[in-house]
Amino acid sequence: MPQATHDLVVIGGGPGGYVAAIRAAQLGLDVACIDANQQFGGTCLRVGCIPSKALLESSELFAAANGHFAEHGIEFKKVKLDLTKMLARKDKIVEQLTGGIQQLLKKNKITGYVGRGKIIAPGTVEVTPLDGGVAIEIAAETILIATGSQPARMQGVEYDGDLIGDSTTALSYQEVPKKLIVIGGGYIGLEMGSVWNRLGSEVTVLEAMDRILPGLDGEIAKQAQRIFEKQGFKFQVDSWVESAKVEDGQCVVRCKDREPLTADRVLLAAGRAPYTAELGLQNVGIETDKRGFIQVDKHFATSAKGIYAVGDVIGGAMLAHKASEEGVACVEQIVNGSGHINYDTIPAVVYTHPEIASVGKTEEQLKEAGVEYNKGVCPFGAIGRALALGDTNGRVKILADAATDRVLGVHCIGLRAGDLIAEAAVAMQFGASSEDIARCCHAHPTLSEAVHEAALAVNKRSIHT
Ligand code: FAD
Repeated sequence: MPQATHDLVVIGGGPGGYVAAIRAAQLGLDVACIDANQQFGGTCLRVGCIPSKALLESSELFAAANGHFAEHGIEFKKVKLDLTKMLARKDKIVEQLTGGIQQLLKKNKITGYVGRGKIIAPGTVEVTPLDGGVAIEIAAETILIATGSQPARMQGVEYDGDLIGDSTTALSYQEVPKKLIVIGGGYIGLEMGSVWNRLGSEVTVLEAMDRILPGLDGEIAKQAQRIFEKQGFKFQVDSWVESAKVEDGQCVVRCKDREPLTADRVLLAAGRAPYTAELGLQNVGIETDKRGFIQVDKHFATSAKGIYAVGDVIGGAMLAHKASEEGVACVEQIVNGSGHINYDTIPAVVYTHPEIASVGKTEEQLKEAGVEYNKGVCPFGAIGRALALGDTNGRVKILADAATDRVLGVHCIGLRAGDLIAEAAVAMQFGASSEDIARCCHAHPTLSEAVHEAALAVNKRSIHT
């Protein structure tokens, strides 16, 4: 006999799960949300987006105090790093935000369960408390899986969660490693690499492909690599890691056809894998693909009746806002019969310095699809505000359909690119043409003028370049 009954049980309290739970409660459902961690908020709040951004901000200020402040005529006698305090600040932010999620659940009358959720039969979830105590059974007409992902392991890499660790380990190094090897040139590797590079580590990034940031626009990624190299990053692309192990207290990484490399620490950031351990998928016949991602239809329904899935666990872009959008669309579909997500307008941001942001199709994708396009570019060197802020690195690039002028992609590297991309995402969601953006008045002096100028440049009428 189940000990509790709810209309909807959400397994996983990350940005996919807790947002879906809140939206479902707003729509009138009696909702429960289960998480296997005391702190709700998922990877994003605990060991992902938020703690990494807290450290990126702190380390950026440290780097500025050691360099850029002097350009502003602000000089220090001695800049000292208090790493313990920096890490404590990050932990406090995580605590505050995860506590906030508990409040939100309460406010929306959602029942929170802390424990490991397992689907034992259609409509029944078992929750085992973290201390291994007596499990309880919850009945629900609808179940939503939002159990997210975990760092992928790699054959030959002897992960020990310490000297050879992952992004979670790298959020809490107690000392600045002298030499750090990052396996994987994606956004997580570059963000965490940036933190430790700014704090004094010599960072080498190994990437199996022939370029960093696979999936982002090639031209922008190339420019990013040049900028990061100037910051002291070393890159070894086309490097297939065969092994990483600790030998005599030192990390040794061997790549195919390359000399071995040594470092104090190795950060494995070679992708993330769906998290479905002990979830009971086989009990209800839920299908996964070869890599373990749960298969869903366009309404996020799995192959088992009444069971849905959203977020990292279904694959696609591993982003918090994508997970949340899916969560909302899924429950709106369940309750109202319609829910919508536009995968073409989901922005992606890399929070390095400078930031890199994109939405829509890359030049490579348009070429591959045989779509004719026009391209407008504005370098930040043409933008007064960028000069005043002290960093003119980067550009905004707008790609518009050659026949209709509809914006198909916007790619940006430069100061606060992550904020600038919001305008592009909104414009694309409304089906804007480059001329629509060009006809919008942009405040002066702001960095958004680069978006305006790039839109003007699509039709070869930019003013400042
Ligand atoms: P998750 O956030 O992983 O949440 C899943 C939850 O389910 C977890 O809390 C887990 O404890 C729980 N769970 C799992 N199994 C069970 C079970 N059986 N029972 C109960 N609970 C269970 N994305 C961005 O958009 N922007 C960023 O800047 C960004 N930075 C990142 C930086 C790092 C270092 C990392 C690692 C990730 C980052 N991400 C970022 C990615 C982002 O964190 C994920 O895309 C997002 O958290 C996915 O949300 P989710 O709800 O699908 O899963």
